[in-house]
Amino acid sequence: MNQSLSSRDEQVIWHPYTQHLRREPPLAIVRGTGARLFDDKGRSYIDAISSWWVNLHGHAHPHIAEALGRQALILEQVIFTSFTHEPAILLAERLLGILPPGFAKVFYSDNGSTAVEVAIKMAIQFWKNRTTGLTNGSPTGTPGGRNKILALSHAYHGDTFGAMSVSDRGIFTLAFREYLFDVVTVDCPHPENMEKIRNTIRQHGREMACFIYEPLLQAAGGMRLYPAEGLDEMLRMLRSEGVLLIADEVMTGFGRTGKWFASEYLQERPDIICLSKGLTGGTLALGVTAATQQVFDAFLSEDRQLSFFHGHSFTANPLACVAALASMDLLLQPGCRESIDRIGRRQAGFAAQISDRRSVRGARALGTLLAFELNDGADGYLHSAGQAITAAALRQGIYLRPLGNTVYCLPPYCITEEELSAVYRFLEEMLDKQESKEAMASPV
Ligand code: PMP
Repeated sequence: MNQSLSSRDEQVIWHPYTQHLRREPPLAIVRGTGARLFDDKGRSYIDAISSWWVNLHGHAHPHIAEALGRQALILEQVIFTSFTHEPAILLAERLLGILPPGFAKVFYSDNGSTAVEVAIKMAIQFWKNRTTGLTNGSPTGTPGGRNKILALSHAYHGDTFGAMSVSDRGIFTLAFREYLFDVVTVDCPHPENMEKIRNTIRQHGREMACFIYEPLLQAAGGMRLYPAEGLDEMLRMLRSEGVLLIADEVMTGFGRTGKWFASEYLQERPDIICLSKGLTGGTLALGVTAATQQVFDAFLSEDRQLSFFHGHSFTANPLACVAALASMDLLLQPGCRESIDRIGRRQAGFAAQISDRRSVRGARALGTLLAFELNDGADGYLHSAGQAITAAALRQGIYLRPLGNTVYCLPPYCITEEELSAVYRFLEEMLDKQESKEAMASPV
């Protein structure tokens, strides 16, 4: 007997962020086109979260697919130490052309977490190389040097150990807490807590190697927005203390917030920027850590020990690089910019429309993101509303995956007006049901 894909999956697959004891069997997706995914029963789903925020131009986009097909017949992979290749060079050239000014070198890795690991390691070694150099046998700390890292509470920078260490000490890192290195943490800068942040920087600034931040939007931490002004002041202060600034734009890069990079909302430029997710249009895994000339120069030495000893087998994979180049072709077409603006207007309009509803808290929009909290008792990632909303949305042919009771929509830029309206219709019906449930429950 032919087993369904879902039951074969059950026997052999361990899924990410999944409690296998209680989960619904996964849907088997057999193809995708535009903003839609199709399962093995022929049902379609609007991918309203861009498949974990990666997809920009729609699934199986022919321009990207054709570029991949051509490259696969030319060069699929080659070691990236002794060798180089045109897709990697061209991508670096084009990225440096659209990144905020100041970057000079592109370091490739495999995903968002590795892009962050690379950034943290670069910043730590930058200071060792610049101060005492590296001494074999005494690997810890630089006397009088910079051995502290500053991060924001509620941050999420990835699932590897360095990335977890600079992330929030919350549910995602709970099991590993005692294995993570210490960081100095401050809340996101708001007018009310600026004085506290200033004091922390005055106190520890000269001991800090770097500050890592998700500019304006903390994504996995609950789609939290915070204002540019406070962050700019914080970045200015840190810069005057010489602290390296690392912008994690893994999620916010490539137009998600309405500008190509969220750092463009700020006056202060980072020294290091981390990119992934939308980099290849969401087609293949690829990470980029771009650095300024000043950072790069700290690794130049006759002493080979001062080299940056970091690299992955698939560094600068040529297929991933051509996917990124093809995605950038699409991104830079005027139609894409118009779509980003169109989605932005509709998301802002819908946020305003639902903001006064009883069942909604904190309706907000930034660029192509819409988010709000379902006002239903406690907050948090383990809130049961998330899974219930995913299941209800799937029944309506929509894929949403709230972070607990934080509901959000972050669609691919090719989403049509009708598809976006279908998502809004589902959300309004869901809120109607929530409010009538509350009305039934409340004593008259
Ligand atoms: N940084 C940010 C801001 C992210 O949102 C994510 C992923 N959600 C990561 C890093 C890690 O990326 P990846 O899942 O590709 O390792």
